[in-house]
Amino acid sequence: MWTTPLLYERLSWPEVRRAAAEERVCLIPVATLEDHGPHMPIDTDLRITAEICRRAAEAAPDEIVLLPAIPHGYSPHHMDFPGPITIAWDTFTRYLVDVGSSLARHGFTRILYLNGHGSNQNLVEMAARLVGLEHDTVLAAAAFHTSGADSARVIAELRDSGQGGMAHACELETSMYLAIEPDAVEMDKAVDERSYPQGKHATMDWSDGPLKVMPWWSSFSRTGIQGDASKATEEKGRKLLDAAVAECVEFVRELLSRPLPERLEPQETLP
Ligand SMILES: [Zn+2]
Repeated sequence: MWTTPLLYERLSWPEVRRAAAEERVCLIPVATLEDHGPHMPIDTDLRITAEICRRAAEAAPDEIVLLPAIPHGYSPHHMDFPGPITIAWDTFTRYLVDVGSSLARHGFTRILYLNGHGSNQNLVEMAARLVGLEHDTVLAAAAFHTSGADSARVIAELRDSGQGGMAHACELETSMYLAIEPDAVEMDKAVDERSYPQGKHATMDWSDGPLKVMPWWSSFSRTGIQGDASKATEEKGRKLLDAAVAECVEFVRELLSRPLPERLEPQETLP
């Protein structure tokens, strides 16, 4: 049965072969389970990322095959809070590579890991890189959701918090969760905690600064929140999700527009 959106796990094997022959982009949501303040479930990254990918697969039903979300990620620095399941960085990276390599083996040529947990990001990028090196005619890519220039404009227009207000369990993530399932969020417990020591270069917000410093989360956060969760609204969440979905579809279409890599013999001069 060909479903809409096309869900990988619901396909028979001949349908998998057909989806690969259609040159669909494999969209893989990647997240983690970890504390998101006293006001939100620990599945916040997973729920948001899976929702963005599902809506993107609905918006581009002929271009995407949606993989089941990868729920567990890299969160060792959060383990002082109850809840996180953390996977060792190398196990996690290899797991992602194995998923991508399996898809490549079945004939898929374009793979997008869409990540929703900050500390996964460099590992997800590495996994995509490794899939491309192992399968040299495959385009494998990684992206963080709601991170492009158009999203940045939407974020700037919508936000009521200042610098540091959108980092973790923050104005952005709380708004998005409110737009997905308002009853899952306890807004009376949503506070403004911005205690990460911000510097000129080591900054924490939806886009971090160039100097990366990530100590134990408990060394600077009491509630687990980093940002101003109290400013979150369902209305902002709807607009943020719309921006995230549009951006994800653009990522997919840009991958589709790129030529598949072809390795060339090095030449001393241009022809
Ligand atoms: Zn999060």
